[in-house]
Amino acid sequence: MIARVSLEIALRKEFDYSIPAELAGQIEVGSRVQVPFGPRKILGVVTAVTEESGHANLKPILKVIGAQTLVTPKVLKLARWIGEYYCCAPETALKSVLPEAVRKEDASWRERLFVRALPVSGELPKLAKRQQEVWNIIEERRELPLAELLELTKTTAATIRKLEDRGLVSIANEISERDPYAKETILPTQNIVLNPAQAVALEKIKAAMDARVSPTPRSQLPTATFLLHGVTGSGKTEIYLQAIAHALEKGQGAIVLVPEIALTPQTVERFKARFSSGKLQTLVAVLHSHLSAGERHDEWHKIRQGRARIVIGARSAIFAPVEPLGLVIVDEEHESTYKQEEAPRYHARDVAVMRGQMENAVVVLGSATPSLESFYNCQKGKFALLELPERVDDQKMPRTRVVDMRQTVRDGKGTPIFSPQLKEAITQRLEKGEQTILFLNRRGYSTSLMCPKCGYVCECPNCSISLTYHRVEQKLACHICGHNARVPNVCPNEKCKNPAIRFAGTGTQKVEDILRKLFPHARIQRMDADVMKKKDDYRRVLGEFRHGKIDILIGTQMIAKGLHFPNVTLVGIIYADSALHQPDFRAGERTFQLLTQVAGRAGRGDIEGEVFVQAFTPFHPAIQYARRHDFNGFFEQELEFRKQLNYPPFSRVALLTLKGRNEEKVKFSAEHFKRELEEKMPALKNFIFGPAPAPLLRAENFYRYQLMLRTAAMSALSRELAQIVQSLTLPDDVTLAVDIDPVNLS
Ligand code: ADP
Ligand code: ZN
Repeated sequence: MIARVSLEIALRKEFDYSIPAELAGQIEVGSRVQVPFGPRKILGVVTAVTEESGHANLKPILKVIGAQTLVTPKVLKLARWIGEYYCCAPETALKSVLPEAVRKEDASWRERLFVRALPVSGELPKLAKRQQEVWNIIEERRELPLAELLELTKTTAATIRKLEDRGLVSIANEISERDPYAKETILPTQNIVLNPAQAVALEKIKAAMDARVSPTPRSQLPTATFLLHGVTGSGKTEIYLQAIAHALEKGQGAIVLVPEIALTPQTVERFKARFSSGKLQTLVAVLHSHLSAGERHDEWHKIRQGRARIVIGARSAIFAPVEPLGLVIVDEEHESTYKQEEAPRYHARDVAVMRGQMENAVVVLGSATPSLESFYNCQKGKFALLELPERVDDQKMPRTRVVDMRQTVRDGKGTPIFSPQLKEAITQRLEKGEQTILFLNRRGYSTSLMCPKCGYVCECPNCSISLTYHRVEQKLACHICGHNARVPNVCPNEKCKNPAIRFAGTGTQKVEDILRKLFPHARIQRMDADVMKKKDDYRRVLGEFRHGKIDILIGTQMIAKGLHFPNVTLVGIIYADSALHQPDFRAGERTFQLLTQVAGRAGRGDIEGEVFVQAFTPFHPAIQYARRHDFNGFFEQELEFRKQLNYPPFSRVALLTLKGRNEEKVKFSAEHFKRELEEKMPALKNFIFGPAPAPLLRAENFYRYQLMLRTAAMSALSRELAQIVQSLTLPDDVTLAVDIDPVNLS
């Protein structure tokens, strides 16, 4: 027999190897194997097993790694699709479906020494006093880790060895699972009685799941995919939980994707609490980037062994080896973090829809602010729309006021950071003992250091952006490459040297600073990437906030989503326009989503919430529709704008970025590439835009130029594109990145 193997080194090719007699029966599609490659030994994955090969003199596979195949044939098929659609080498796609911690040959379960009481026949031998005390504990516990026993009894291993010599205990290596949530105590919960809107949504999801196991011809199945559009606090999560229960009842598993940022202990707990006991009891595996390699290994294998039937995780959890898969949930489906920004540049939501189709599983996309793409798919009948227009318990949507900051600045009342209205509202909350969240999407103290006399701005020497002033650390920092610089006392321009160089723009540190001056007695905490450095910081601060130990929480998008604190009755958005003026056709959509999400943090308890949106362009549609909580209104007008410019969802986009250290060379290569594309894809001639300098022209000392392709049929385009890219010759120091359906255009 012959095995076709995809090697871990990127060669865009698969190789045939013979299966030696001693390995026969151990190798199947998905097996991890070690094979000879030239003088080296290399790891790879078997992608096919065949009778014959077009090549002679095949080398034999050296060994099989692991008792169980790691990549199931279904996930392998998905990886193939990713390679083709996202225009990347199959090995790259394969790598992304297996976490590093699982892929490594030496990755394995952690073994620890356990002490176990052996059955005693007849009378217990006479023991020394110390030995007797230790034995009593072992006998009571029956089995425990050696380290724990030593700690408990304050004794040495020699004492335990003596008990072993006398045949009372055994000491042996056993697997000890690493559980990232071992410290949590979780109280079980039960299904909540759904309100009518929730019940309708759940019934439709369940009906679609049932239709998939009965012998209905595929073409007559109702759509695979649902879009659950429900305002924040409308009880989407409860629907997920009950739909998962339905999958478990049918003997199927489920994958729940949440944005990394929403993977708080709070979220994980809700899923564990429902399924940690009762007749549907199962393990809930958690996969995200903050796990140690060991934890990730163990979580992954719990899924592969079928012990964990529910997986909750960030982007890459979509590849979890759940079998059979009944349901995939993508919460906050509009989130840009579902897009991976390095090869393979896949979008986990789109992969979820594809996986659902391939494995006949139901996919539910949920959001309070669906992406234009998904909502448009509902209009076209590709997805089915489920709506939850009201908050549960008749809670009202928070009252939202837009504050015209031009007016504030003109009147000279208040600062450009705190309008008198917002200041007054915070004062009231402090008096009443209610909590406030202040949101600003920029960390640091000031966004730039600028000379008012000559206009000099301190820029990063490696990137084309200005340096941010960090006051606590007394430094200037680049938020792209991390470059640090001293804060100059005078304008660095030799001809100017103005000592009155000034800070412009506001970051979270400055908001905190001013807030402390305005409210010296308030308990204030900032939450952004500069403060949240340790693994546990996030959890700790949110815990303090929940227990009322913090009055005002200031933060970046870290606090925008998913948090549920009933005592928060006020949300202030300091500078709502900040994302509006970026060179990206999704700027309006992002602003609308962000404002809606942040506003949704207010009034999640019994008291009605209030939101202040401070803006310098208060009449922008994204801000006005967000104020009225009017998704449909926003959608209609934004769709019109996209249609006129032929942007997604009316077209699909491929972004081709060339980069290198020499600007002229990069530009020249981009022009050459464009000519190749025009020649080989004549039909696309009028849909190739650029080359143009990327919005972020220089990053980490690399110049970047872009070409943009627009098409109605992306699958066909990416197939052609892959061929052209493969035969394209670029100068040695210029590289090309292909991004299909890009999310970040900078
Ligand atoms: P969403 O996911 O849409 O933001 P959640 O599912 O978190 O909403 O629901 C918000 C709160 O309301 C949660 O505490 C949840 O337990 C509760 N809840 C959900 N559905 C109901 C219901 N039908 N009746 C009462 N409370 C509910
Ligand atoms: Zn930089």
